[in-house]
Amino acid sequence: MMSTIAFLGLGNMGGPMAANLLAAGHAVRGFDPAPASLEVAVSAGATGCDSAADAVRGADVVITMLPNGALVSQVYDEILGTATDGALFIDSSTISVDDARATGERARAAGFAHIDAPVSGGVKGATAGTLAFMVGGSDEEFSRAKEVLEPMAGKIVHCGIPGSGQAAKLCNNMILAVQQIAVGEAFVLAEKLGLSDQALYDVVTGATGNCWALEVNCPVPGPAPSSPANNDFRPGFAAGLMRKDLGLAMDAVESAGTTAPMGAAAAAMYSEFAEDNADKDFSAIIGKLRG
Ligand code: NAD
Repeated sequence: MMSTIAFLGLGNMGGPMAANLLAAGHAVRGFDPAPASLEVAVSAGATGCDSAADAVRGADVVITMLPNGALVSQVYDEILGTATDGALFIDSSTISVDDARATGERARAAGFAHIDAPVSGGVKGATAGTLAFMVGGSDEEFSRAKEVLEPMAGKIVHCGIPGSGQAAKLCNNMILAVQQIAVGEAFVLAEKLGLSDQALYDVVTGATGNCWALEVNCPVPGPAPSSPANNDFRPGFAAGLMRKDLGLAMDAVESAGTTAPMGAAAAAMYSEFAEDNADKDFSAIIGKLRG
């Protein structure tokens, strides 16, 4: 079934996501305060709107793809009064689990369906329509959302109750950060021990230490020719975004009353590293490890 979709936040991710919805035949009403971002969406076929409140008029689905939780909450302030009765809200921004639960509750209390549906796959996946969506919400909300997400997705996983999409995303990125640092440490040690990068790569990719951070995102040039290390550490996945996601993971650790010593160490390292290297791929942290 074709929908009218309000798309709020048409930046690096939202722009190409909206383009894929248009290509699948949905009508898109877009809003972004940055004129250049709105213009790109309009040239892809979206109806350009003057405000978020205007964009949601008549839309049966509302997608937000915004920089942070405070903005999602601010945009909800503007649209909860004007959105169409019973509309489905899909928040694909990466925000904290607590913020996702709070905004979801507000939307449900105002009579809307709501899912948190953060993504992985980056701008590349957004453009190709192959993002991985991690969804938190009821069974009914999930099955309603699935059809809308499909043109943007390679994979859609229902993770469970509201907030669990964000929880899955934060857990994945905490694992990834720890692994990327561990892989960097191993290359630095191997270099000191006279073991070549290629030999370490060949052994570990066939052994129990293998992981994406090594096999695909290898932090030294050579063994994995398409990794960012071969291209001056152009991202890829920028260190600044990893810092943001680890900050959210640490918020979740604190709010859940648990501990994550390795995650906390990775968060501290990326917080410092991203001060001067926010735009580099996060695998560039190997440079810090070399001292
Ligand atoms: P971006 O900064 O390129 O885009 C965000 C857009 O939101 C901007 O165009 C901005 O003008 C717009 N915006 C700000 N206030 C607004 C408002 N009140 N109403 C409507 N639009 C508003 O960021 P991005 O890279 O597209 O990331 C968006 C979200 O996706 C973030 O939460 C990010 O963490 C997450 N994410 C990004 C990537 C990535 O690789 N870029 C990957 C996965 C998840």
